[in-house]
Amino acid sequence: MNFTETRGNDGKRPSSVSFSQAILSPMCSYGGIYVPEYLPDLGEPFLRRHLDSDYKTLARAVLDAFEPDIDPGVLDRAVALYDGFDDPAHPVPVVRVRDDLYVAELYHGPTRAFKDMALQPFGVVLSSLAQDRDEQYLILAATSGDTGPATLETFKGRANVKVACLYPDGGTSDVQRLQMVTEDAANLKVIGIHGDFDDAQSALKTLLSSDTFQATLRERETHLSAANSVNFGRIIFQQIYHIHSYLELVRQGAIELGDKVYLNVPSGNFGNALGGYYAMKMGLPVEKILISSNRNNVLTDLIRTGAYDLRGRSVIATSSPAMDILKSSNVERILFDLFGAARTRELMAELDGNRVYRLTDGELAALQSVFAADYADDTEVNSYIGETFREYDYLLDPHTATCLKAHDSCRDKPLPGIVYSTAEWTKFSPTIAHALTGETDAHDIDALKSISATADTPIPPMIEALFDRPVAQDTVIDKQDIEREVLAFI
Ligand SMILES: *Cc1c(COP(=O)(O)O)cnc(C)c1O
Repeated sequence: MNFTETRGNDGKRPSSVSFSQAILSPMCSYGGIYVPEYLPDLGEPFLRRHLDSDYKTLARAVLDAFEPDIDPGVLDRAVALYDGFDDPAHPVPVVRVRDDLYVAELYHGPTRAFKDMALQPFGVVLSSLAQDRDEQYLILAATSGDTGPATLETFKGRANVKVACLYPDGGTSDVQRLQMVTEDAANLKVIGIHGDFDDAQSALKTLLSSDTFQATLRERETHLSAANSVNFGRIIFQQIYHIHSYLELVRQGAIELGDKVYLNVPSGNFGNALGGYYAMKMGLPVEKILISSNRNNVLTDLIRTGAYDLRGRSVIATSSPAMDILKSSNVERILFDLFGAARTRELMAELDGNRVYRLTDGELAALQSVFAADYADDTEVNSYIGETFREYDYLLDPHTATCLKAHDSCRDKPLPGIVYSTAEWTKFSPTIAHALTGETDAHDIDALKSISATADTPIPPMIEALFDRPVAQDTVIDKQDIEREVLAFI
């Protein structure tokens, strides 16, 4: 299958590219991104066939349906990375927490956040494509805390790919920082920035537009790719667990094959939600996709009112920092799918130029036929975490906790809801310790021990080990020094 461009073609680039081209070089005409030219049919016959498939078998079948131009042996090696999750037979447990609320736990991989679901296999695919072509790739990542560790972990020691990762020094949790600075491999560079996540991100943009930087890349024959969810190489792996979670509900007897459910996604850049949308379009019986946010509720407003409005907004720091995002990149792929390339280009140009776009009533109705949305503030998140532990003995991370609001407010039919849990409690332990016991001491190691004792649950070994591992990456610099640092690295 080939891929096309969300904002149409500028006449200079190919208007249709293969899967491998789309992932090696993810940007396209007019600043758009790649989308599949059509979606395969994974409706009832497919679902019935995979009722008893394990995760890897289902994953291969979904990948094969997209007919990617990737060697089947590479795809086998890619999905084999799910064997490194806590339980290789069940990398994504789906747990009934209460009544009709099920939680799909996407965090059982090496870095304890859902980013591993896609980045683990993506690392194998990108590195083997680079090796086949005998090309060198550089991935630049700015992280607020989860993408960085997962990107470093998947590319660690892999041939033909280097990763430079920028994080805001003091702006991540201790666990997230240690996950990055203890990564020791010659192809990885971790750089702390004096400033916040926006500073890290804008420093990266400045770097990308620097002539010296571009010239050095050409001189070293190094290509730039991306590991964030604008890369379809991530999205393809994020459709699988939606289908898996649905089939789990069938296997658990909660629904019959064909019954509808709600998917409920804590959303930032909308990659996770987009995977659910494509699964629904391919035939998964979904009533609606609920989009959960924190106080950076630009998506709630879009889905309720049809206006994507950034005017007068700036990012608010919350207890669910991976969702502290205002420009949500993958919404563009939904616009394309619903309204076509010409309209998408027009809307995105309005957003870039005027910081706002407004859908027509008809367009809003189309959006609302698929999505509903709500948001929870930090006080609500704190009570959801506390109540869910006290009443149901279940630990929610702050991102997952935002979904409880939409579960109650957005379902207009009494159908089960699948909440996607995007991080383990260990990644945001001070927030969770506070919700459980009221303590405010804020150091991860103390919070981890206190939650472990209160909830009678072990700290996973890869988290505990972080505190004893030597720091291998100690660069912390001002943002004007980033170019020099990255050039020295490549
Ligand atoms: C990345 C992330 C999200 C947001 O996911 P998107 O696919 O960008 O919407 C939510 N929660 C956690 C913990 C994350 O790491």
